[in-house]
Formats: sequence, structure tokens, C-alpha cells
Amino acid sequence: MHPNIWYPFTQAKTSPPPLKVKSGRGIWLELEDGRKIMDCISSWWVNIHGHSHPKIAEAIYRQALELEQVIFAGFTHEPAEQLAEKLVKRLPSGLNRVFFSDNGSTAVEVALKMAYQYWVNQNQQRQKFIAFEGAYHGDTFGAMSVGSRSLFSQVFSNMLFEVDFSPFPETYIGDTSVEKREEAVLSQLKEKLQQNPQQYAGIIIEPLVQGAGGMRMCRPEFLRKLQKLVKQFDTLLIFDEVMTGFGRTGGWFPSIKSGVTPDITCLSKGITGGFLPLSVTVCSEKIYDTFYSDDPIKTLYHGHSYTANPLGCAAALASLELMVENQPVFSSMEAKHLQHLEALQGNPQVEKLRVTGTIAAMDIVSKQESGYLNKVGLDIRAKSLEKGLLLRPLGNVLYIMPPYCITDEELSQVYEGIFDILKNL
Ligand SMILES: *Cc1c(COP(=O)(O)O)cnc(C)c1O
Repeated sequence: MHPNIWYPFTQAKTSPPPLKVKSGRGIWLELEDGRKIMDCISSWWVNIHGHSHPKIAEAIYRQALELEQVIFAGFTHEPAEQLAEKLVKRLPSGLNRVFFSDNGSTAVEVALKMAYQYWVNQNQQRQKFIAFEGAYHGDTFGAMSVGSRSLFSQVFSNMLFEVDFSPFPETYIGDTSVEKREEAVLSQLKEKLQQNPQQYAGIIIEPLVQGAGGMRMCRPEFLRKLQKLVKQFDTLLIFDEVMTGFGRTGGWFPSIKSGVTPDITCLSKGITGGFLPLSVTVCSEKIYDTFYSDDPIKTLYHGHSYTANPLGCAAALASLELMVENQPVFSSMEAKHLQHLEALQGNPQVEKLRVTGTIAAMDIVSKQESGYLNKVGLDIRAKSLEKGLLLRPLGNVLYIMPPYCITDEELSQVYEGIFDILKNL
């Protein structure tokens, strides 16, 4: 460990020293000692086009020579305006007000504040949110509060605001009871909403795939039924598409793929292709209208120093162009994953094989309690590095989330590596 750095999510005392990366090209990372590692998880899910893509690099350079940063209150700039327009065109129609911030957690904070104040601005006090078991929405206090209580937030549990948690109807290949479980979840939710509809500011969900909570997947049908309930009981639907946006689920966004228009959505991770921190919270005109007023107290008083940083916006615009080029890749990756997963069906070491778009996942059967600290995950992490693969299981959940530049041969290589690791576990 470097003597001057405090690494995230890392217990310095018991962790192996971090690997020093010299460069990245496409899916490959090159370490200082010359080793090459295939980045099978897009470096915490952000590098959708792989590393150091020259198109994005050039866009940033050109923008940096023109305008690198400017205060975003009382001033605006072309890259932000263009990006907002292009994002709105790609999102479900009705989502048309873009609020900029700079990471996924703050995108969620902004969504929660927007939803809460939406009611306050209409003279209603709605103190509660509904969220889902297994959810992860980030590490700031609001985002932690709507996240499932876990090892990550345990220490701070007394500081978090109260949230009602609903079970999440996760599903996998060969699941025969999902419809029943969805119905149970929906009727529980209905009961909650019926009891006191006026206490809920909104419902927040990671649509189609819960990320850090273990790559748990649900059906688009569930989201459509959830939206119906939200409308019936007049609350707000918030999508956290921070991880699942920008092609990850096979469509441009889970909202588009499932045909559900939330009231507010949060985007970050893939937005700049992994080059620069940037995020947006996008809401409908219905929400924006309640803030539009002569009364200063109705303003959304939120912002960050680097809000809508022009370099980040330029990177995002270049990344969107690459998204158009790569649409055939991200929309066809699910079929490729399925082919490989077929060979794992029936293997007693794995269960709950699942895939949504570019994301494939499975639970490794382990005698230990499942969870983030499950040793099997650490074991797989170490063994895959020996094979030149960057895989970082979440507890006993092994997943692959490659950048869209991965070749068929490289994808086969990843699965061969996984077969090998399972054999020697
Ligand atoms: C990663 C993530 C966040 C938090 O984003 P950060 O940029 O790490 O703050 C929020 N929601 C989801 C679904 C995520 O996957």
C-alpha cells in the first residue's frame, strides 16, 4: 500500500497490495511489471468502450484547449446543452429536464431531494421512500439510506433515514416461480401504499439489474406493473440507471428496454465511457414545474463545483457517438453470453445463471454464508488475476461485464478461464 493513500472499500491491514497499472488499451490493462490483464468488469462498470479510446481522448483534448471549466450558475456552455439535448432524445419521451452532477451517488441524492421537494413545493410533507432489498444506490448518506442495509452501511445505520424495503423479485434462467413471486411483491407493495399513500415521496429501484447487491435481475414485466401501482397511488417512480444505462442491459437504457417512463432517472457510470466523473438526474416537466416559481424557497438549492464540467460533457458526447457505432455489439452480447452459460448449466458448483444484455452472472455454491465477505469470491479474484483476468466477484456472485470492444475470442477466453477456476476451486 502506498504510504499516502487511503484506498476505497479496502481493509489495508489484510488486503494484498494493489497492482500498479501503467496503461490501458481497449479491454487490456498493462501493469508496471509488464503483465497484461483483461478487464472483464469494465473497471467498476464504467469503461463501456474499453480503455483510452482515442476518439474520447481527442474530444477531451480539443475541449480542454477551448474551455476546461466554468461556473454553471449564471453561465452555460455548448457541450452541456448539446449533451442534455442528445440524452433527452435517447431517454423515454417525457424525461426532459437534465440536472448535472458528478457521480452516481450524487445523481441519486439529487433525485431524492427533487422527489421530496416536489411534494413540499405542493404543501405536502412526504417523509418516506420505498426501496428494494438488495439495492445499492451509492455511499453518501441519502444514497446509503435507500440502499439495503449491508456491511457497507452498517456502521452508519443510526444516521440513516427510515425507508420501507420491499423484496426484489430476482429471477434467473430456468426460474419457474418468478410470476408468483412478482405478484406477492406487488400485492405487499399495494398494501403498503393503500395504508397511507400520502406518506410516500417515491419508490426507487435499480431497473432490470441490481448491481452491487449481487447482479440480481428482474423482468421488465415487473417494472411495468410497478409503474402502474405508482400511478394508481400517485407517488413518484425513480429509476437508478447509474449502472444499467448506456447499453448495459442490451438496449440504450432499461427504461427504454422495458417501456417504462419513470418520473426521475439517474445516469452516471458509462456516461463518459469511463474517462471523467459525470452524472445526470433527469426528470419530467411535471416535477420541474413545481420548482418553477417566484418564491425563492421553491428553488432546488443543490449544486457541485464541477457541475457539468465541459471536459466531462465533451467526453460524454464522444461516447454517445461510439454508442451508436456499438449498438450492434451491446444488443447482441446477451446471445453470446447465453451460449457460453449453456456449458455451465448443470454444473453443481454454480446456480442461478442469469444474463441481461451485456451482464452475465451466477452464484458460486459455497458452504459459507453468502455475502460480500464470502471467501470464495476472494479466492476467485486471486485465481483469475493469475490467469490475467480481472474478475471481482461480489461475495459468492461471479459476474462478467465486459466493455463493448471485447472480441468473440476474448469472451471465450474469459469463460475458459472461469471453467478452469471452477475446476480448481
Ligand atoms: C455505482 C452505483 C451508484 C453510485 O455511483 P458512484 O459513482 O460510485 O457514486 C449508484 N447506483 C448504482 C446502481 C450504482 O451501481
